[in-house]
Amino acid sequence: TSFGFKEVKEEEKAEMVGNVFTNVATTYDLMNDLMSAGLHRLWKDRLVSKLNPFPGMKHLDVAGGTGDVAFRILESINRVRQRGLRDVFEDSLKADTQIYVCDINPKMLNVGKQRALEKGFGENGSLIWVEGNAESLSFQNDSMDGYTIAFGIRNVTHIEKVLSEAHRVLKRGGRFLCLELSHVGIPVFKELYDYYSFSVIPSMGELVAGDRESYQYLVESIRRFPSQEKFASMIADAGFQKVEYENLVGGVVAIHSGLKL
Ligand code: SAM
Repeated sequence: TSFGFKEVKEEEKAEMVGNVFTNVATTYDLMNDLMSAGLHRLWKDRLVSKLNPFPGMKHLDVAGGTGDVAFRILESINRVRQRGLRDVFEDSLKADTQIYVCDINPKMLNVGKQRALEKGFGENGSLIWVEGNAESLSFQNDSMDGYTIAFGIRNVTHIEKVLSEAHRVLKRGGRFLCLELSHVGIPVFKELYDYYSFSVIPSMGELVAGDRESYQYLVESIRRFPSQEKFASMIADAGFQKVEYENLVGGVVAIHSGLKL
């Protein structure tokens, strides 16, 4: 029944995730910089370089939050244009680049919209902000050239649903990319990392965002997330081919990728 134990737990999880990101929306970007010592910027750059964005592409960034990944994709496309390839791509430019930023939390999207205006990304209409759930996307089958999810899949209730939705909305040949906090295997480094995440991060959350609990939740959710190998096999089970992953900083984060062929 819908009052079963599992369902209640799942509802609680969804509500809790909602609260976490509503509480942290305004301090989110600052906390990212502090917690990762600025490294999340490099990790996101790496994610986007694996995507090979191109003018005219239709891309979906899920759990896109305040727009970090989407902005990088647009910047990368603008660089392609500046490298003098403008003529080559003139037709595809007319075909319109469309980067959809989908997130379940309107507060995160609002912070993102504001940042887009400040960055001058507002004018050409390439960015489209959509409130929605990664587990049931409102986009059509075979409609996207690329799909990214950065630091988002760890928070969802059903990872499998997210993966099968990613597979559904991608065109054949489209790439799935996921950047996520993962598992460190290297001895000593692992102990240091554990100390940092269990002790330093919640205190930092309390100090900067006035919210210890949300950051405690963050750390616990990292521990519960499947290992790199297990997550890769889940991606393959969703139908993706050529599944692979790359560890960054010894597995503090991993980038998984797969193709819909
Ligand atoms: N991708 C952004 C980045 O890397 O800066 C934001 C990452 S933030 C840690 C996680 C985001 O996932 C939050 O904005 C949250 O609202 C969103 N989120 C959580 N559950 C979601 C779901 N089921 N569907 C869509 N977005 C979700």
